[in-house]
Amino acid sequence: MQRLRATLDRIDHRGYGSYKDLSGPHDFGPFTLFIDKVQRDPFAPPSLVRIRTKENAFDHDLFGNPGRRGAFEDFLTRSVEREIRGTVRGNRGSGGSGRVEIQRTSQVVLPRTSMVVEPGYIEARMAVGLPARGRSVDARAAGTVLLEELPEVVRRGLVPAPDGGVDVERARLHVETIEDANHLRRLLPDLGLVAFVADGAVLPRESGASDRPLREGVVSFESPEEFRVEVDLPSRGAVLGMGVPEGVTLVAGGGFHGKSTLLSALSWGVYDHVPGDGREYVVTREDAVKIRAEDGRSVSGVDISAMIGELPGGRTTEDFSTPNASGSTSQAANIAEALEVGTSLILVDEDTSATNFMIRDERMRELVRSEPISPFIDLVRPLHRSLGVSTVVVVGGVGDYLDVADRVILLEDYVPSDATLRAREVTGKFPPRAPLSHREMHPPRERVIRASSIDLRRGKRETARSRGLHTIELGRERVDLSYLEQLAEGGQTEAVARIIGEFIAADEVREMRELVREELSSVSEKGLDALGSFGGHPGEMSLPRAQEVAAAINRVRPLRASPRI
Ligand code: ADP
Ligand code: MG
Repeated sequence: MQRLRATLDRIDHRGYGSYKDLSGPHDFGPFTLFIDKVQRDPFAPPSLVRIRTKENAFDHDLFGNPGRRGAFEDFLTRSVEREIRGTVRGNRGSGGSGRVEIQRTSQVVLPRTSMVVEPGYIEARMAVGLPARGRSVDARAAGTVLLEELPEVVRRGLVPAPDGGVDVERARLHVETIEDANHLRRLLPDLGLVAFVADGAVLPRESGASDRPLREGVVSFESPEEFRVEVDLPSRGAVLGMGVPEGVTLVAGGGFHGKSTLLSALSWGVYDHVPGDGREYVVTREDAVKIRAEDGRSVSGVDISAMIGELPGGRTTEDFSTPNASGSTSQAANIAEALEVGTSLILVDEDTSATNFMIRDERMRELVRSEPISPFIDLVRPLHRSLGVSTVVVVGGVGDYLDVADRVILLEDYVPSDATLRAREVTGKFPPRAPLSHREMHPPRERVIRASSIDLRRGKRETARSRGLHTIELGRERVDLSYLEQLAEGGQTEAVARIIGEFIAADEVREMRELVREELSSVSEKGLDALGSFGGHPGEMSLPRAQEVAAAINRVRPLRASPRI
């Protein structure tokens, strides 16, 4: 600490570059501050630092296995995030002067690079905007940030009470909640379920722009008696809720009655949620994929022939490429790509689907004879029968779907009921619907992708990085991920970008499925840190799913992929 203060005194008022002299470790007594990377000027991205405590005074039970450890690391990241907000003044001069940051979290719990918990220490990775007056060193302000604010953040955010400010009971609740949710998700296959929604769950969100729970006027979830299942969780014990069985499930109901909200909660059920989220015990099979139409996206070498037959001009759909997919072809490609990496549950919302992909009615069949699309309504049963893939479909307008559903959940005023029998009565009143295709569903042909089709060069450098939650920059190319509805936080996007970067740098030709699997198993073996390429700490990454890694690769416009022959 003395050395740090002496260095600050020496470089005060000098050019901003003098901050380089702070690089390296500094002993702060209870912890070591590592200044890994010093920013070049006050307007550049902030300097990267790590704080490593000299002991870990938490009960080791909180991080005794990988699942608990991940949950506890998530808890501590949030703890530091909160204490930064409470302690650090920020804005102490030009540019990012005085700002202290830790990786931003979302409502979901993920392995991240922001925090490392080991039996002997805790390490937090942060960013600090070293303070400047104009473009020169402001040593006084830097002293306040580094020598006063940071140690306070550490004491309040990383040290257990009573010495520090961390409420150990809250930490325990956090860890146990995550462990329970994980346990519950792993129970699903044996219970023959694809999802579970606990009684009392709060599904609606604050707003379209916020993933926090709605606070007022919430109708909490209550399972229909017919679907009620009891599960036994390690910490929580018995929990009641709605089990969604395998097969074809329909969510019906009038407009604004909570259908999309339920489906969206299911789509986020692939992740664990923080206590207080309302969806702690809403879980879905971990490989579930929400599918939507995405016209305008590019598609490369995807086999959509199970869903769409020959296109105009005799174009085959076994090796379908386009720089500009239509609503229906994009939705078909999204399904084929999800099947390619592997999924056991497809979630579809009428709101975000192409009508002609979902259904074709009698009159249109009469008028239009050459229609290559087998509508989704004719695919849901074969998907389950031949491929073991279940579906949950939200419909408000297309009653024909009642014919193909194993069960119907009806939402009225946000309250679900079992409408399966009523649906049978209704369908009995109409002549049975003649399916357009009796075909079985076949899995799409696997593809090989060519790394050489993507160029990472941008000027003199090579880049593969994220730009916020929904954009990846690969060289001069921008990849639009706006429609990946299960991408939870920017850290995942960054990790995906680096995974793609690694693949391209290796300049290989690989099978998509194998590539994604291998990359992710290497990450789980070596840790996310291994994806870091900068000196010092690895930046801000969170673990992505295989589905999102593949989806991102699939949206790279210059990508060249073709079915394996
Ligand atoms: P639908 O898809 O049936 O048209 P939405 O799911 O979009 O309906 O929900 C309509 C509105 O109702 C949204 O603003 C949503 O936040 C709110 N909402 C949904 N479920 C609940 C609930 N259980 N309690 C209170 N509000 C809800
Ligand atoms: Mg809706």
